[in-house]
Amino acid sequence: MKLPRRSFLGALAGLALASPLAAQELGGGGDRSQALRVLLGRGTVEPLPGGFLFEGRRYRGSYSMLADGRVVNEVDFDDYLASVVPSEMSASWPIAALEAQAICSRGFILARSNPNRPYDLVPSELAQVYRGIESEEPASTAAVRSTSGMVLRYGRGFAQIEYSSCCGGYSESSADAWGGAPIPYLSAHPCPYCTASPRFRWKADLGASDLEATVERIAPQIGALQEVRFTDYDRSGRARSVALGGTLGVARISATRFRIDVGARRVPSLLVRRERALVAPGTQAFAGLRIEGRGLGHGVGLCQWGARGYALAGGSAQEILSFYFVGTSIGRI
Ligand SMILES: [Zn+2]
Repeated sequence: MKLPRRSFLGALAGLALASPLAAQELGGGGDRSQALRVLLGRGTVEPLPGGFLFEGRRYRGSYSMLADGRVVNEVDFDDYLASVVPSEMSASWPIAALEAQAICSRGFILARSNPNRPYDLVPSELAQVYRGIESEEPASTAAVRSTSGMVLRYGRGFAQIEYSSCCGGYSESSADAWGGAPIPYLSAHPCPYCTASPRFRWKADLGASDLEATVERIAPQIGALQEVRFTDYDRSGRARSVALGGTLGVARISATRFRIDVGARRVPSLLVRRERALVAPGTQAFAGLRIEGRGLGHGVGLCQWGARGYALAGGSAQEILSFYFVGTSIGRI
């Protein structure tokens, strides 16, 4: 049983400290020796030629076990991407969109990996599904291979990568979504390419009991809920606050907090165009909220349905990424 080796991410981190430019030179040309250490967790392992079985699933690369029994998969970066990219974007989508996604996923993983642990990443922490070979799809694998080693760069560093399903026609700035200093390439701008998304326009009904449960947790001081209003619209058209009106007063809370508490799936985005109270038949009692909006997800960075639309219109991966991350360029890890 061997301990996991220090991965190339560890080497990158060390080089980045020594010289901001050194990392640029590392692995140029798509070095296939770039290995990630991926924490799989506890489970049964069985060696196979060129890989192994973990909990009955086939994985590429090798494995080792931490002292506490958790299994770590040492896997080529591109092999890991080949497994996770089809979960992030349908492999049936155009190759240029898949290539844009592969480049984004590579940068997303690099930025969120932690070489100071005995493993670089935990797929679930990145909201990534990693099921080894069974998830691989030929088209996604081709996109990963044709973009091997490519990441988005801004100035001398890596660009911060964000992506979500559908921006609803207007992408969001990172500063408006999450606060912090504005990032030039993560700004709000119109997106004409994502209208084919089934969530480009949506309606959602939130029942009174669910909303009352949220009020109970977040703003119990307002009493019985009577009204919900989205407010403080930012430049992209997203609500940044929600005003909750009750029998004892009004509370204004962060729209993001409201969305997470109610359930991100039930409020697909904060690009809310209209809301109205539902009233119980025959009475004036508050019975819930109907909201109409656009898009699915936070809307920052790459709009995945937009990448599909742009690719179908003939755009290359490079053009797609230049559109959603203005001012960045494709470079090497
Ligand atoms: Zn879009």
